[in-house]
Amino acid sequence: EKKKKLGLTTKIFISLIVGAIFGVVLCYLVPSGHIKDDIIVEGVLYVMGQGFIRLMKMLVVPLVFCSLVCGSMAIGDTKKLGTVGVRTLLFYLVTTALAITVALSIGNLINPGTGLDMSAIQSNAAKVETMEATSLSETLLGIIPDNPLNSLSSGNMLQIIVFALIVGVILAKLGERTETVGNFFSQFNDIMMEMTMMVMSLAPIGVFCLISRTFANIGFSAFVPLAKYMVGVLIALAIQCFVVYLGLLKIFTGLNPLKFIKNFFPVMAFAFSTATSNATIPLSIDTLAKKMGVSKKISSFTIPLGATINMDGTAIMQGVAVVFAAQAFGIDLTMVDYLTVIGTATLASIGTAGVPSVGLVTLTMVFNSVGLPVEAIGLIMGIDRILDMSRTAVNITGDAVCTTIVAHQNKALDKEVFQKA
Ligand code: ASP
Repeated sequence: EKKKKLGLTTKIFISLIVGAIFGVVLCYLVPSGHIKDDIIVEGVLYVMGQGFIRLMKMLVVPLVFCSLVCGSMAIGDTKKLGTVGVRTLLFYLVTTALAITVALSIGNLINPGTGLDMSAIQSNAAKVETMEATSLSETLLGIIPDNPLNSLSSGNMLQIIVFALIVGVILAKLGERTETVGNFFSQFNDIMMEMTMMVMSLAPIGVFCLISRTFANIGFSAFVPLAKYMVGVLIALAIQCFVVYLGLLKIFTGLNPLKFIKNFFPVMAFAFSTATSNATIPLSIDTLAKKMGVSKKISSFTIPLGATINMDGTAIMQGVAVVFAAQAFGIDLTMVDYLTVIGTATLASIGTAGVPSVGLVTLTMVFNSVGLPVEAIGLIMGIDRILDMSRTAVNITGDAVCTTIVAHQNKALDKEVFQKA
C-alpha cells in the first residue's frame, strides 16, 4: 500500500515537471492559432484541469462533515473534546498570527513592490473576484447554522463544522441507542476516504493540465517583474515551515524535526501538486497514524478542522501581497493598518475551505480592510498557481504539527511508531 502511495506522489511530480515543460513549449514554440489557443489550451487543458478541480471540490463538504462527526464521536466525552478543541484552536490561531507577522517582516525587508514597472505587468492583470468583509457580530452569528441543510448545500464550512461537532458529540453520548446512525457515518466516512483516493488517482492528469495551461498562458515573462514578490512569499513560507513549526514541535514534543519532515514529506508533495488542503485530509490522517504514531481519535478531529480554519501559508501570501501592493501603488501603511491586516487575514483563513485559489478571493477582503486597490490582485493572479501549491504544502504541515503537539499533550502520541518509521 505504501508503495502505491509513493508511486502516486512520484507520478504527480513527474506530471508537474512534464506539464511545465509542455506549457513552456506551447507558449514559446507553438504559434498562436485556433488549434493551440482554442483546442489545446482553452479546450482540452482547460476542461480537464477544471474538471479535476471540480472533482476535488465535490469531496469537500461530505468529507469534512463525515470526518468531523466521526472525529468528535471518537473523542467521546464533551470535556475531553473541549480540551482538545480549545488547545487546537489556540495553536491554530497563534501559528496563523505568527505566520502573517513573518510575512509582513519579510515583505518590509525585501520590498517586493518598490520600483516596479507597473505598465509591464498591468497587461497581465485579470479580473478579480471580490469578497466583502462582514462585521464582527455578523461573523460571530454566522457560525451558528440556522438551517444546517442550507449550510451543507451552500458549503458554509464553519456552520458545517459546528453542526458536525454537535452531531458527533450526541452520537457519542447516546451510544448504543444511536449505533445505526453512528455506523452510518463511519461507513459514509469510509466511502468518502475511498472516493478521495479515486479522485486522487486522476491527479497526475489533472496536475499536468493545470500546470501546462498556466505556463502556456504566462510563460516566464510574467515572473520577472513579480520575482521579488514570489521570492518573498517563498522565503516566508520556508521560515514558517522550518523555523516556526519545527521549533514548536521540538519544544512541545521533543520529536526530531528533520525526521518529522521526512516522514511527512509525501503528504506535502501531494498538497503541493494539488493545491488543495481538503484533498489531503485522508492521506494526512493516515500518515500521522502510521508514521508519527498520532491516534486517529485526535487527528480525525483536528485535521479536517485545520484544513478549513488553519491556513498559515495562505496568510503568509496575503501578508507579502499587502506589502507588495502598498509599495507598488505608493500607499503608506500605518501600524494600525498592519494590525488590521493581521486580524483580517487570520479571520479570512477561518471560514473558507482549502481548495485551489481561495486565498486570492479572501485576499480581496484583506485589501478592502486597509483600503488597498483590489486591482493589484489582478497582477499577482497570473502567477498565483505556483504560490498556491507552495502555500498549501505549508497549510497542511501546520495542521499536522499542531495535531502532533495536541496529541502529545493528550497522551495520544506513540513515539515508538515515530522512531521506527
Ligand atoms: N489552496 C489553498 C489550500 O487548499 C488555499 C489557498 O488558496 O491559499 O489550502
